[in-house]
Amino acid sequence: MDMINLILFGPPGSGKGTQAKQLAEKYHLHHISTGDIFRKEIGEKTDLGQLAEDYLKKGELVPDSVTVEMMKKEVNASPDVNGFIYDGFPRTVSQAKSLDYLLDVRNEQISALIALEVDESEIINRILKRGAVYGRADDSDENVIRSRFKVYLEETEPVFKYYEMRGKSSRIDGKGAIEEIFDRLCRVVDGVIQ
Ligand code: AMP
Repeated sequence: MDMINLILFGPPGSGKGTQAKQLAEKYHLHHISTGDIFRKEIGEKTDLGQLAEDYLKKGELVPDSVTVEMMKKEVNASPDVNGFIYDGFPRTVSQAKSLDYLLDVRNEQISALIALEVDESEIINRILKRGAVYGRADDSDENVIRSRFKVYLEETEPVFKYYEMRGKSSRIDGKGAIEEIFDRLCRVVDGVIQ
């Protein structure tokens, strides 16, 4: 069977993390969340963590070279899986090109990009709630949340087009119950991995 490489796409707070975990379990994929990796590195005060910390605090993107290098390590260190689900990556067209190149070297390619659609007011509410529960600093300040959304529109949205031109992008409604959204996602994934 071909390796599966799924990108779960959407603005911060659209539910990517929750859904990616469930998809990873169902389809036996390795879940890679660049945000989770950065938070872990920051917690452990590694060099990478120290480099990333300020960017996360401000809601800005960590430089592409740093992020791509980290991803490469993560992908190449997980040989025994059906594939990968990328959550929070790629966030720029340049990251997407690097990912395509990395996969090309492995004789693989992106299977699909699926975007979760949720509007801005819903996003702000969801993230503030998550901030109250998990205490993520970048989830608790409305200004930081708005700038993350702006970064998403300006730098990350074009990644949808990039894969759309290659016939790989689709959108699903990201509002509703977690199980409903999961079912919508599985329908798309089942169609892709036939
Ligand atoms: P997330 O958990 O996906 O919302 O990511 C939290 C923060 O980590 C972002 O606001 C960025 O500062 C950083 N980050 C996560 N993924 C990336 C990426 N692919 N490129 C650059 N920065 C990222």
